[in-house]
Amino acid sequence: MNFSFTQEQDMLRKTVRTFVDQEIMPNIRQWDISGHFDLGVLRKLAGLGLMGVCIPEAYGGSGMDYNALAIVCEELERGDTAFRTAVSVHTGLNCMTLLQWASEEQKKRYLIPQARGEKVGAFGLTEPGAGSDVAAIQTTAAKDGNEYVLNGQKTWISLCDAADHFLVFAYTDKTKKHQGISAFIVERTYPGFSSKAQKGKLGIRAGNTGELFFEDVRIPADNLIGQEGDGFKIAMSALDNGRFTVAAGACGQIMACLEASVDYCRERKTFGVEIGRHQLVQQMIAHMEAGLQMSRLLVYRAGELKNEGKRNTRETSLAKWQACDFANKAADDAVQIHGAYGYSDEYPVERYLRNSKAPVIYEGTREIHTIMQAEYVLGYRTDKPLNRLLPAWKP
Ligand SMILES: Cc1cc2nc3c(=O)[nH]c(=O)nc-3n(C[C@H](O)[C@H](O)[C@H](O)COP(=O)(O)OP(=O)(O)OC[C@H]3O[C@@H](n4cnc5c(N)ncnc54)[C@H](O)[C@@H]3O)c2cc1C
Repeated sequence: MNFSFTQEQDMLRKTVRTFVDQEIMPNIRQWDISGHFDLGVLRKLAGLGLMGVCIPEAYGGSGMDYNALAIVCEELERGDTAFRTAVSVHTGLNCMTLLQWASEEQKKRYLIPQARGEKVGAFGLTEPGAGSDVAAIQTTAAKDGNEYVLNGQKTWISLCDAADHFLVFAYTDKTKKHQGISAFIVERTYPGFSSKAQKGKLGIRAGNTGELFFEDVRIPADNLIGQEGDGFKIAMSALDNGRFTVAAGACGQIMACLEASVDYCRERKTFGVEIGRHQLVQQMIAHMEAGLQMSRLLVYRAGELKNEGKRNTRETSLAKWQACDFANKAADDAVQIHGAYGYSDEYPVERYLRNSKAPVIYEGTREIHTIMQAEYVLGYRTDKPLNRLLPAWKP
């Protein structure tokens, strides 16, 4: 067991922190207020090699380990959840899934441009009638010669207007229930495809989320990822990676809450002393610190398992559940510490509170992860060996 970061990982953290301080912090309040998603930030991240940080160099990435991805996500969410969400979806749910499941030819066509950040990937699983219950999706893909014809609708899809490629899940055989779901890459330019952003979100307002529509979209049969019927397994293994990035991001959210709260505790006085001197305020600070340190241990343990090429569904689920809950509580307490000023967008903590809610909902709700953890402990759930694991990290 090794609890220290490498020199390369320390350098990476410094690079992302400087990037966030220079490119995100000065603009984020305005972007959040106006609901502007800045694609330029993703382009600049690509320039730094951060859109495919853990993808091998042979496939267009930076060749760093999986915990390097956690560092990127942690530092990005210290700036804002929108950009961490973008990396979660692009790198965690797309690039890593292609690395695990795509053929060599598909990796050349889709993974390499994604890992380089030349193309942006999105993940289309959720539908109006299917979120936690993935098998309830209605989208279908009917085989027609050398093509599949896709019909259906997705909702709450991050990067809906920004992405070039969409990893989409659809039934190829409804009679087989979840074993009849297949995964496809859909390109934005395919006729019959359209997207529409959602307005009126509680948080992640500087992000881009919305609907995808497929009306007789013809997809080359070569765009089927894995085999017909592998879609459910592909979606679940994608979530093992996406959840890891969400958990890491939650650590960054707690860091941001701590930074803002410590500053405010030292500056605001009541009853003749800094509010940081009041024990009930200290209790909130102490809980934030405990949440940060516990979450980090869970996240980097899951990352280590990924580095070793081991199955980590259970550990990643626990990290995602706990880190997101800690972050949500930290943001609530950060607003509390700021009193009425926390209720105003003059300070960033109200944005943290709004942003911290979606991660408790997406990539498995709090309730789904609670059930998963209980079922593992009770012996009702065991992970069957996957025929394709994420490759172990090779320096
Ligand atoms: C900002 C944002 C971005 C998103 N981005 C994406 C994306 O890029 N791609 C994508 O595919 N999806 C995305 N989603 C969708 C997200 O993954 C779903 O919202 C999530 O899976 C929950 O599904 P649902 O909203 O349909 O809730 P439901 O599944 O309808 O659940 C409603 C409530 O019932 C509870 N519940 C459900 N089943 C059970 C059960 N068995 N036991 C106990 N309680 C249960 C849930 O925990 C929840 O509290 C995004 C969502 C948000 C908010």
